[in-house]
Amino acid sequence: MTFRIGIDLGGSKIAAVAIDCEGRTQAQRRIATPVGDYPGTVAALAGLVAAIEGDIGRGASVGIGIPGTIVAATGLVKNANSTWLIGRPLARDVEAALGRPVRFANDANCFALSEASDGAAAGRAAVFGVILGTGVGGGIVIGGQLLVGANAIAGEWGHNPLPAPQPDEAPGPACYCGRRGCIETFLSGPGLAADHRRVTGQGLAAPQIAAAAAAGDPTCRATLDRYVDRLARALASVINLIDPDAIVLGGGLSALACLYDEVPRRWGRHILSERIVTRLLPPRHGDASGVRGAAWLWPPDAAA
Ligand SMILES: [Zn+2]
Repeated sequence: MTFRIGIDLGGSKIAAVAIDCEGRTQAQRRIATPVGDYPGTVAALAGLVAAIEGDIGRGASVGIGIPGTIVAATGLVKNANSTWLIGRPLARDVEAALGRPVRFANDANCFALSEASDGAAAGRAAVFGVILGTGVGGGIVIGGQLLVGANAIAGEWGHNPLPAPQPDEAPGPACYCGRRGCIETFLSGPGLAADHRRVTGQGLAAPQIAAAAAAGDPTCRATLDRYVDRLARALASVINLIDPDAIVLGGGLSALACLYDEVPRRWGRHILSERIVTRLLPPRHGDASGVRGAAWLWPPDAAA
């Protein structure tokens, strides 16, 4: 039987899965990302593959979702919020460490491909997959096909400016990309925590803010209310552009149950259509969508 390994290289953790040809999980592992350590990251990826292959007792194809893009012409990583990867020949180094070809894709593209293939948006014609986590990314799947794009940045709306900014949102927080007021600076987990700190002076992380809001804390509820409004504006601009049948949220903040009712309630005023049938959906595969999409980067006839 053919096995595929999919790896999701995240800003704080590296997750790996081995799936069989029918998509069933045969093994999975998770380790902490060696933050700021490029050689350590390459070694961690190679070690994770070896460990998973030990678990399943055979070799497998390897696909890796990364927080950025590998430029085809140079083989170097760009646009990574894990900044220690930028400008590094990650594909070459991982392939050398493993002694085999490895397929790479943006982590948000892996997520979108997984959810559009056999996930929450299975069977829908046009799908926008969103990662709301350590960073913010997006991927577009049209008719079951991932849209990579001429510059390999299709769907990357996290570094567009936040649409319709209010006076207190402009010019907005500084972003690692060199701009100010990027969508990511408001809608990532650290962005949510920074917004709460700016307004209240409280240093709470995103999960703590969500828990306190659920328990009725008024300042945390206000922070989530600002978050909902900003997400509605940011997704409205995507709907105006590609008019997807479904938008699937992923990443840590996709666990906020309030988003799925409250964001569609607010995005209408920014969308050029009186009737909006686009569905906003939670991920079916949850945290596993990134690794599953990476595994499916190898088509059936190409896997080891
Ligand atoms: Zn930016």
